[in-house]
Amino acid sequence: MAKQFNLKEFNDWLNKRNPNQAEFVQAVSDLAKDVLHPIQDSADYQQEKVLHRLTEPDRIISFRVCWEDDNGEIQINRGWRVQHSNLIGPYKGGIRFHPTVNESILKFLAFEQTFKNALTGFSIGGGKGGADFDPKGRSDREIMRFCQAFMNELYRHIGENTDVPAGDINVGNREIGYLFGQYRRLANHFTGALTGKDIEFGGSHVRTEATGYGLIYFVEQVLKQCDKKITEQTICISGCGNVALHAAQKAIELGAKVVSLASSKGTLQSKQGFSAKNIGDLLASEKDSTSKLKELARQKDKTWLAKKTPWHIPCDIALPCATQNELTKSDAINLKDNHCFLIAEGANMPCTNKAIAVFEEYKILHVPGKASNAGGVALSGLEMEQNASFSSIPFAELDNKLKSIMQEIHAQCVEYGQKNNGYIHYRQGANQAAFQRVASALIAQGIG
Ligand code: GLU
Repeated sequence: MAKQFNLKEFNDWLNKRNPNQAEFVQAVSDLAKDVLHPIQDSADYQQEKVLHRLTEPDRIISFRVCWEDDNGEIQINRGWRVQHSNLIGPYKGGIRFHPTVNESILKFLAFEQTFKNALTGFSIGGGKGGADFDPKGRSDREIMRFCQAFMNELYRHIGENTDVPAGDINVGNREIGYLFGQYRRLANHFTGALTGKDIEFGGSHVRTEATGYGLIYFVEQVLKQCDKKITEQTICISGCGNVALHAAQKAIELGAKVVSLASSKGTLQSKQGFSAKNIGDLLASEKDSTSKLKELARQKDKTWLAKKTPWHIPCDIALPCATQNELTKSDAINLKDNHCFLIAEGANMPCTNKAIAVFEEYKILHVPGKASNAGGVALSGLEMEQNASFSSIPFAELDNKLKSIMQEIHAQCVEYGQKNNGYIHYRQGANQAAFQRVASALIAQGIG
């Protein structure tokens, strides 16, 4: 008779095995508590130590990135690729360039990605990569040289059936272009080994918009479930990057009122709500997030709130779209006091454990990023499909596909999440549905 799975013992094991990796431990124990029951109920899961095995990434590649800046000085950064799991398909996940990037952050992101990707329904595994490189203030040529140096090592570890990176924070269309160019030269191979490419060389329509649009398509499903109209919702958004701006664009198009956007330096509040033109201008601007928000703050209904996050502003829906652990317990209390009823994550793990505890205590709906922001990677799956058949699907058709994928992810959360008087435990639903798919693949493929 197998020993019962014990959450405390598991967490002790996890902490001991991953010292100083707070983000990674946070992501894994968050999933562990939701899958505890399926594990306890199934002899297979217990005997095979499924969660212990899934916790350890398949491999972590760490490498030196050496490049020359515009002054002719040699700069040294560290790069990584965490290949978490290819149980259900090739490793797949973004690349992040940020000075805070470290192994713990990439391990948590790769772990989350495996389960997020499982929810999309595609045959894609999970991975994540990045470097502790700060692109702020760097020239276009410096960015190009850095991307090339990064790919000089990464290219030997990726490929359309092996590992397919994409963008993430500070890695957008331009960086993917430079990364792809270097991959093509080194591998002498024109394939879909990266997603998020330009349309001209194998990219897909809707890929840029997909994470933000997908988030709003998910929110629409939640609203339908609660019998509420999007035209009556006031929405607070944090962030000012690709995800935040496309979420704002779609929400405004559907008639919602978006009252905030934010950078790491402060929040831009718009009492009347941003216009579609405001968002279009922000998307077109090449300035850094803070500068472009401050520029817009000159308009009369707008205020720049230096060093403030948006979560004290009254809203019905909060969409954290900036970065991990950006929304804390006191923010959660402010949201609750202002009667916010839904938090849907655009970023990966943006809410701290203590913030989530507040949402659960007050039955505020909370959708984890692995469900609500899965639209980006889902479109990457569609880009891979198009690359494999050398085809290109029109924008409207892909947008419809994105909508149905988000509907399907929502349906999985509802099916698996605990329901209580209309309250759906989205986190539990997402974690259980995703875990079930990955864990079954692990058991079916034997021990190794
Ligand atoms: N970085 C995105 C995410 O967190 C997209 C990954 C991809 O398209 O591979 O899901």
